[in-house]
Amino acid sequence: MPDSADQYAGDKQKHPWLSMLLDAYQTLDNGVASAIAREEKLGRKLACHKGCAACCRTHKDIPVYPLELVGITWFVTKKVTGTIRSTLKQQLREYKEGNACPFLVDNACSIHFMRPFACRQFNVFGKVCAEGEDAYHTRRRDVLVPIKKYTDAAFDKTLPFYGVMNKMERKKIIKKGSIHQTVRILQSCNWQSLAQKMQEYEQYQELINAHLKHE
Ligand code: SF4
Ligand code: SF4
Repeated sequence: MPDSADQYAGDKQKHPWLSMLLDAYQTLDNGVASAIAREEKLGRKLACHKGCAACCRTHKDIPVYPLELVGITWFVTKKVTGTIRSTLKQQLREYKEGNACPFLVDNACSIHFMRPFACRQFNVFGKVCAEGEDAYHTRRRDVLVPIKKYTDAAFDKTLPFYGVMNKMERKKIIKKGSIHQTVRILQSCNWQSLAQKMQEYEQYQELINAHLKHE
C-alpha cells in the first residue's frame, strides 16, 4: 500500500515539524497536479511515469532544504524496511558525488513519500528523457512550470520550522526568496552518516526486542 499522510498521523502528533513538512508537500503536490491538468487541457502529455528514472541518475544538483533533510533522515531511519532498507543503507554507505541519487533503488525512489520539493516539481511532457539528458537544459519548454502561488504557499508552511512564526515576516521572506539561502545540494550531503544512523537505529531496535523477550 502506498504511503499516505494518514498512516503517519501518530508521528505527526509527536513531531510538529512533520506536520509542517507534510502539509507543505500536500500543497506543493496540489500545485503540481493543477499545473499538469492545465497543460493536459492544452493537449500536452506527461512523459513521467512509474519506473522512469533517468532524471534520478542524471541530475547532479538537486536542491534540498534543511527541513526536508530532517524528513528524509527520519523516514529512512525509522520507516524504510525490508530489502529496500538494506540496499538503501549500502548505497548510502558507498555513495560518492557523481553517482546516481543514492535513494534510487530498483529504478524507483525509495523515499517517494518524502522526496524533496525539487523532485516533486520536476515533470516533463512529450517524450521521456534520454539517459543522461537533463530536459531543463535540452528542451526547457517540455519541463513543467510550477504555479508560483502553490510553491510560495508550500514554502510558507515550512517557515515556522526555522522559527519564523509571524505571517508578515514569512510573506517578506518568501517575496525576497531568502529561504533559498538555506538550500543544500542533495548530491553533496554526507550520506554515509545517514547509513550509520540507520545501523545504530537497527541495533537499538534489536536491544529493545531482546529486552522485551526476556521480560
Ligand atoms: S523527468 Fe524524464 S526521466 Fe524523470 S520521470 Fe519524467 S520523463 Fe522520466
Ligand atoms: S530523491 Fe527520489 S525522486 Fe529525487 S532524485 Fe532521488 S530517487 Fe529520484
